[in-house]
Amino acid sequence: MNATERLTELFMRFPGIGPKQAKRFVYYLLREHSHFKEQLISALEELKFTGRQCDVCFRYFGDKSAVQDATCSICKDETRNRKTVMIIEKELDLDAIEKTASYAGIYFILGGLIPPLTEKPSELIRIRELVAMLHQKISNNDIEEIIFALPVTDNGDVTREYVEKTVKQIVGIGKVKLSTLARGLSSGLELEYVDKNTFKNAFEHRG
Ligand SMILES: [Zn+2]
Repeated sequence: MNATERLTELFMRFPGIGPKQAKRFVYYLLREHSHFKEQLISALEELKFTGRQCDVCFRYFGDKSAVQDATCSICKDETRNRKTVMIIEKELDLDAIEKTASYAGIYFILGGLIPPLTEKPSELIRIRELVAMLHQKISNNDIEEIIFALPVTDNGDVTREYVEKTVKQIVGIGKVKLSTLARGLSSGLELEYVDKNTFKNAFEHRG
């Protein structure tokens, strides 16, 4: 296989990228000036050594701090309220919410959703990791609210019910507030595309 064929196969491993788009990327690279390719190569080189997963929120991150640290910049930020944890599906949702600059707590990324009638839901999301994190927070008296920000879909609902049931067994009813982003405002909207006003409304009207 030559380099263009190898690259096509590599691009096809990206989520949502089929053979046609993969080839489009390769042709783009063939046309591009070497400066762009150098930038791409150097960014990939950096990721190779610095890409890490945060040991608190489980987000993958690649900023410079990743070299020394296993905790991401959000979880390390002293100005954020660590007693509020927002439970989300994926990194893209976190990026979208951060862009609205309307949330000052921390996150927990489940890393997936549970479809209805799943036999072993605990294998599809980071429930064990969430339980461990909550146990630690409870013993440090470091948790006040857990906010569910999951998609308004069947899978999102099943996931919320499952996680909520598990969380309630740990935190004890009444001690920690459990809330969900307002639905009417976010219905049919994917969190990863949320804009500032929609998110602010859904957040302020959570219940
Ligand atoms: Zn983190």
